[in-house]
Amino acid sequence: MFEILFLGTSASAPSARRGLSAHIVKHDEYRFLVDCGEGTQRQILQSGAGFKRLTRVLLTHGHLDHILGLGGLLSTFMRWEAIEELEIFGGRSALDRVHDLLYGVVLRGIQAPMPLHLREIKPGLIFDAQDFSVTAFPVTHRGPDCFGYLFEGKPHRPFLVDKAEKLGLPPGPERRDLVEGRSVSLADGRQIEPDDVLGPSQRGVKLVVVGDVGRTDDLLEVCQDADGLVIESTYLDAEADMARQFSHLTARQAAELAVKANVKQLMLTHISRRYRERDVLAEAQSVFPEAKVARDFDHYLIKRT
Ligand SMILES: [Zn+2]
Ligand SMILES: [Zn+2]
Repeated sequence: MFEILFLGTSASAPSARRGLSAHIVKHDEYRFLVDCGEGTQRQILQSGAGFKRLTRVLLTHGHLDHILGLGGLLSTFMRWEAIEELEIFGGRSALDRVHDLLYGVVLRGIQAPMPLHLREIKPGLIFDAQDFSVTAFPVTHRGPDCFGYLFEGKPHRPFLVDKAEKLGLPPGPERRDLVEGRSVSLADGRQIEPDDVLGPSQRGVKLVVVGDVGRTDDLLEVCQDADGLVIESTYLDAEADMARQFSHLTARQAAELAVKANVKQLMLTHISRRYRERDVLAEAQSVFPEAKVARDFDHYLIKRT
């Protein structure tokens, strides 16, 4: 299961109710901050999420509404908050800009208060843990090196409690051994194999997070059968020409992608001040009835469906 907490859901500039792009994706003890628009540190405090273990930032691209918050965040870390490390992942051009912001404006020759790594990414695997991975994929927006992120649980075989009970397998470390693929010997001398108590392999949960983007045809494959899709929805269909011009999506285009790719949960973000939320929602729901427009501090659970 993944959790997603929206910290900022406005496009380009903040509104009274919406901060600039940032959200936290969580899985067990791992937390990833995806983008860090201006004001993100206050949103983190207000949400109650806190800074602890928020050591990895994934940038979708280098536009200012997605990165300026890194300056304030680092400034706070220099004075008050203790954080063991900060890793910022992004494309070359986003990291160039972040480098100028952090080293040219915030640090200016002072040593960062923690190990600070700017990690340039290419499409492919960027983080691998025991039971999930994060993969970067290219997206089309203004400028080079724009990325989306796929969070994917690894396939696993479910433990079949019924079968274990029938075999008289006691709860405890034997069950863990079997789940991890090792056979066990019981006190009565019987040998139990993993295949005796594990069901067929199931795919892991799949969450796709896309930042700003101007086309969807090249996202169909990565979004296929996703349990959750977070994607921008900056314009409405009535201004589709403008969306095309600035390389953004309309609510309709985002929803059409979700339908075509058989996505289960669609969460729209990067909402423009030009529109009322209910109009964005209505347009998306006319195509994908379960679509949601995320608000700041909304929290969603993404499970395998
Ligand atoms: Zn943006
Ligand atoms: Zn942008």
